Amino acid sequence: MNQSSPYKHLLTPLDLGFTTLANRVLMGSMHTGLEEEKDGFDKLAAFYEARAKGGVGLIVTGGISPNIRGRLAPLGCELSKFWHVNKHKKITSAVHKYDTKICVQLLHAGRYAYHPFSVSSSKVKSAINPFTPSAMSVRQIKSTIKDFAHSTKLAQKAGYDGVEIMGSEGYLINQFSCIRVNKRTDEWGGSIENRMRFAVETVKAVREKVGKAFIIIFRLSMLDLVEGGNSWEDVVTMAKAIEAAGATLINTGIGWHEARVPTIATSVPRAAFTWITQRMKQEVSIPLITTNRINTPEVAEDVLANGHADMVSMARPFLADPEFVQKAAANQSNQINTCIGCNQACLDHVFKQKRASCLVNPVACYETELHFNNVVKPKNIAVVGAGPAGLAFSVYTAQRGHNVTLFDKANEIGGQFNFAKQVPGKEEFYETLRYFNEQLKRHEITINLSTEVSAQALLDEGFDEVVLATGIIPRKLALKGFEHPKVKSYLNVLRDKDVIGNKVAIIGAGGIGFDIACYLAEEKSLTNDADAWMKNWGVDKNYQGAGALLPKAESHKSEREIYLLQRKETKVGAGLGKTTGWIHRATLQKNNVHMIPGVTYKEVNDKGLLISVNGEEKLLEVDHVIICAGQQPERTLYQTLVDAQANVHLIGGANVAAELDAKRAIRQAAELASLI
Ligand code: FAD
Ligand code: NAP
Ligand code: SF4
Repeated sequence: MNQSSPYKHLLTPLDLGFTTLANRVLMGSMHTGLEEEKDGFDKLAAFYEARAKGGVGLIVTGGISPNIRGRLAPLGCELSKFWHVNKHKKITSAVHKYDTKICVQLLHAGRYAYHPFSVSSSKVKSAINPFTPSAMSVRQIKSTIKDFAHSTKLAQKAGYDGVEIMGSEGYLINQFSCIRVNKRTDEWGGSIENRMRFAVETVKAVREKVGKAFIIIFRLSMLDLVEGGNSWEDVVTMAKAIEAAGATLINTGIGWHEARVPTIATSVPRAAFTWITQRMKQEVSIPLITTNRINTPEVAEDVLANGHADMVSMARPFLADPEFVQKAAANQSNQINTCIGCNQACLDHVFKQKRASCLVNPVACYETELHFNNVVKPKNIAVVGAGPAGLAFSVYTAQRGHNVTLFDKANEIGGQFNFAKQVPGKEEFYETLRYFNEQLKRHEITINLSTEVSAQALLDEGFDEVVLATGIIPRKLALKGFEHPKVKSYLNVLRDKDVIGNKVAIIGAGGIGFDIACYLAEEKSLTNDADAWMKNWGVDKNYQGAGALLPKAESHKSEREIYLLQRKETKVGAGLGKTTGWIHRATLQKNNVHMIPGVTYKEVNDKGLLISVNGEEKLLEVDHVIICAGQQPERTLYQTLVDAQANVHLIGGANVAAELDAKRAIRQAAELASLI
């Protein structure tokens, strides 16, 4: 490693005694959905191989159950039979072509298992799962510990360098270690010594089975962030016992899945939780891994240089860019496609039992299916619109060898991402635009900004193909008073910076309605102020009580009175992202935003907005009515080009505006680029 590298801590090897990791980067465990797909292990092997080739020091696979009851879902993946070994060998042999080690994560879901045979320390149902677990008998406990050991033996046979035992995020081992679920009165419940027995016995059994030269990572819940979570003293007692039981490394776990504190969403400050790993460093001597919202080499380097941990775990950043480490090592971090923490294509998919991918990198988990092969005969291609669709198409197409000319009528690239990035908590969206700017330069794409190109101009240039990525136009409503000066579009707020009054009604509670409500409610973003963010969400950095929760969150209320309205009778925000919708709703609740479903809009007049709800008329005396009522495709150029028999394609919002998001826009662009 080059000693003058700005990432010298990150790129320093880690000697574990019996083996050495090439650097301090761990690719954290992610379930991709490929585990359960037909031929999924071939695709998984290609997925992990790309990350190994990209220089990751240590990979941890997605969670795999040591037995049938511990499966996350009825058909969830299991490593318990000899015949499972061969398919895992595909992964380990692909990864071991490079100087990368790989551990399989053993995860028993406990009461988070989405099937009727779930088990836990006690019969206590989770609010986020409809199935009530049965309480494990002592016999079941002992056989489950044996199952962990047996799985580990199989992992060793499959060529893994180690295992990670999942003891956090509210899964089975965590359900034993905390009184939140563990109500037992036998030797497996009660005192911390009893509650951690399951974890400690598991580590001992695993170590005994595989000998000294095998990595055992224990993922320890250092912050439970739930009522009935452990105290700091309990966590330390457990860490020491885990170390003594034979773990090689301890990884940091933050928050149960049912915690009401965001832990990885984009609005969480970067590296927000590494302080807890730093605190643990004073208590144990084996190397510690820290995690959560670390998404650039600079942040990771700082964490290590400041002594917060010995290794850094990043998971989603490796969906976004498999070459993260390689680019950092080549001092090209500006070329990294940064994970923006949106969860839209990764976690949201997994929770809906769909294959994971990445909003900014649609190749993730599609390594064997989506290719950008070099072209034999380059074409001249015009792309109109430099929003996410046009940018992605231009870059992938130029990468193949075509000549691309990109037009946008705006004076900067980015399309609607320029509005998204202004919303408090969405600052990461800047990174995607930085990445695309770099790629446009790198692939020598001709860019014409401030150019509202006409169909005739495109025809005159004689392009071989024309791709229209012209996006959307906000929907106009047939509402009495729609032309009243009180009525504004979300573009007037975010693009034109119109001054907005203190009383506001927002028509439309989709993604943009929520974002506008947040923009108008939050005086300043907390994403760059980790301490204020912790207080706002009720996290106690002094760890005075169980689960590190403050008795009461210190939330700032908005000065504005905001009404967020929708016609549907369903809960406002029901259509937002599976793993992030609750955060948006909670943020608005903290700001006293009135969220009203079942609204009929009557009229905008000098007094405000007249609506009816459940047949009852109400006048909302507001200064402004902001329209966030969806969008329609912008296709002004399309018909002329079709009539002139040009080879014309529509992508992104220009193609279908309904339910459009950047994930669909970028994937559609990539798929067209792979074919054109
Ligand atoms: P656009 O981004 O609309 O880009 C179209 C481009 O075409 C524009 O730059 C425009 O100037 C240009 N153009 C149009 N006509 C012409 C012409 N004749 N000549 C030259 N140029 C032209 N999506 C998500 O997935 N996640 C989010 O969290 C998210 N948050 C959002 C928050 C806000 C506030 C907004 C407004 C949108 C958000 N979106 C989000 C939606 C996302 O930004 C869009 O789905 C995405 O930008 C659509 O991409 P596009 O390339 O199809 O169109
Ligand atoms: P949207 O999510 O489709 O929401 C449109 C809203 O307008 C709905 O609440 C709808 O609810 C209402 N509406 C539709 N037609 C109407 C009409 N004729 N009169 C009155 N109300 C009407 O669209 P969006 O908010 O414009 O967002 C665009 C896209 O950007 C979305 O698809 C979203 O995926 C993406 N986005 C995502 C995020 C994110 O965080 N993931 C954030 C912002 C944007 P009713 O019909 O019930 O009134
Ligand atoms: Fe990151 Fe969003 Fe990609 Fe998930 S989908 S890896 S959160 S950028």
